[in-house]
Amino acid sequence: MTQLIDVHSELLPVFLEQIEDAIAIVNTEHIYIFANAAYCRLRRTDPATIIGKHVREIVGEDFYQLLVREKLEEVLQGAQVQYESPVTSDAGHTSHLAVSYFPLPDATAPAYVAAVLRDISAPKEQEEVLRFLVENINEVFWLRDLNQDRVIYVSPSISSVFGITPEDMYSDSRAFMRMIDERDLARVQRAFQAVRNERIDFNEEYRIVHPEKGVRWIHARTYRFESDHKKLFVGTAEDITERKVQEEHVLKSKQHVEALYRGIPLPIFTWERRNDDFMLSSFNTAAVEMTQGKAKHLKGRWLSEVYRDQNPQVIEDIHRCFESRSNLRRQMSYTLVSTGEEKYIEASYVYVPDRHVMAMVNDITHQQQYQEHLKRLSRTDELTGLFNRRHFITLMHKEFSRARRTHERLTLAMLDIDHFKDVNDKYGHDVGDHVLQHLGRILREDVRPYDIAARYGGEEFAICFPDTDLSQADHICERLRTLCAASEVSRNGGTIGFTVSFGLSELRPEHEDLDGLLKSADNALYAAKANGRNRIEHDVVYCDQQTGCS
Ligand code: GH3
Ligand code: MG
Ligand code: MG
Repeated sequence: MTQLIDVHSELLPVFLEQIEDAIAIVNTEHIYIFANAAYCRLRRTDPATIIGKHVREIVGEDFYQLLVREKLEEVLQGAQVQYESPVTSDAGHTSHLAVSYFPLPDATAPAYVAAVLRDISAPKEQEEVLRFLVENINEVFWLRDLNQDRVIYVSPSISSVFGITPEDMYSDSRAFMRMIDERDLARVQRAFQAVRNERIDFNEEYRIVHPEKGVRWIHARTYRFESDHKKLFVGTAEDITERKVQEEHVLKSKQHVEALYRGIPLPIFTWERRNDDFMLSSFNTAAVEMTQGKAKHLKGRWLSEVYRDQNPQVIEDIHRCFESRSNLRRQMSYTLVSTGEEKYIEASYVYVPDRHVMAMVNDITHQQQYQEHLKRLSRTDELTGLFNRRHFITLMHKEFSRARRTHERLTLAMLDIDHFKDVNDKYGHDVGDHVLQHLGRILREDVRPYDIAARYGGEEFAICFPDTDLSQADHICERLRTLCAASEVSRNGGTIGFTVSFGLSELRPEHEDLDGLLKSADNALYAAKANGRNRIEHDVVYCDQQTGCS
C-alpha cells in the first residue's frame, strides 16, 4: 500500500512529464487543471500559463466551437470520445493526432475530462502511401472481412480490370464471380471452396468476359490475415492477358516443334553434353524405326561408347559441332549400330544452346547408288559395256600427264573392224551389233586389269596400256587380233567371223599433247588398213629383240 502511494505521489508526475502523449485535464467549466509537458509543447505554451485558462483561449475560439465544446459536453455526460484531428504547426507542417477524451469522475458524476492526444503522423503517412499505392497500381487490391463475410475495401482499378465498380463489390462481394468465363468458372469455384475448407491460399489464373475488352486473363491470389480481432482475406487480381498470349505463342511453337520432331521421317538423335562426353538424351520415332527399336536401349548411353568401333567420325563431328557452336553437315558411309548394315548417309548436326547437339540422319544410300549408276552410265558405252569415248579421253589425259611426269612408258592402240560395212550390209545391223558386243567382251576380258579399253566411235576401239612399251603392247594386241580372227559370232543359226586392224603408238618426246599421240596411233591404223587389214602397224618402226627389225 505504501508502495502504491509512493507511485502516485512521486513517480506518476515524473511519468506524466516524460510521456510523449499529450495529456490534459479540464473541469466542468472547460478550464485546464492539468497539462503535461507534451501538451504544453503541442499548444505552444507552458504549465504556468495554461493552468486556470479556458480551453477556447488555448485552442482558439473557432476550433473550440466547431469541435471541442460539444465533445467535452458529451464526455461530461459520461461518454468516451475518440477522433482524429490534423494540427498545423507554425512552419505549416501538418501532423495527425489521435484524440481520446474520457471522463474522470468525482464521487459519482463525471467532473473532469482527461484528454490524451497522440501524434499518429507517421502511421498516418504510411497509411496514405499505401492507399496511394493500392489505388494507383494496375492490380486490383481488396480486403474481405471473414467474420462479416463482406468486402471492406476494393481498389478503384477493379473498374478497368473487371469492368465492375467498387460499389458493385461492396453491395455484393461475389460480383466479380459473374464476370468469370464459364470455361473456368467451375475450377475457380472449386479453388475457392478449397481455400475456405483447407485454409490454403488461392492462386489461380482464369478468364473473365470483360464487358468492353472481351475475354481477358486474370491472375488472382488471396492471403489469409488473422489477428486477435480480425480475420481478413487480402486479395490481388491482375490482368495477365498479354503474358498469357505470349505464353500461348511459345507453347504453340513448342508444340509445332515437338510434332515436327516426332513426325519427321528423318531419324534424329539428341545428345546432351555431360562431362567431356555426350549422353543420348532423346530420339524420335524415325530413329526408333531406323534402329529397328534398338534406339531404346541406347538411351542414356555415351557417345564415345556407342560409336567407338563403328562410325568414329560421328564422335568427332558432334564434338566439333558443339565446340564451334555451329551446324555441320557431312555425307559418309555409316554402319547401322543396331544391325551392322552399311548405309550411305547425310548427317546434319545442329547445335542447340546450351548443352545439346541434335544429329539428323538422312539415309541417302539409294540416291548415292542411283548417282553412282548415273555416273557409270555417263562413262559407259551402252552396247559394249566398255568406257565411252568421252571418259576414255578423260582417263587418257591423266595417263598422258602422269607418264610425262614420271617418265613411265605409255602405249596407245587404235582398233577398227575390217569391212564392217559389209557385215551390216550382208547380215543386217543387228548382227553387226552382235559383232561389236563380241569384240567388246574380248577387250573387257583379255586386256590386263590396269589397261583401259574403250569404244572410241562406231566400230572403232582404243586401248591405253599404261607403263607399257610398244613391244609389250604389240604382244597383247597380237593376242587380241588372233582371238578376234578366230572368234565366231552366231547369227540366225549360223556363225560369222570378223577381223580387226590395229594401229599402235608409244608416247615419245615429240608428242606435244594427247592429240599428237592419238594422231600417231590413227596413222598406224590407217597403215594397217592400207597394208591389208587384220594386222598391227606401229607409227614408227621398232626392233623386236627376238624377231629383229620389222
Ligand atoms: P574398213 O575395213 O575400211 O574399216 O571398212 P569398213 O566397212 O569398216 O568401213 P567404215 O569404217 O567406213 O565403215 C564403218 C561402218 O560401221 C559404217 C557403219 O554402218 C557401221 N557402224 C558404225 N556404228 C555401228 C553400230 O553401232 N552398229 C552397227 N551394226 N554398225 C555400225
Ligand atoms: Mg571405221
Ligand atoms: Mg572399219
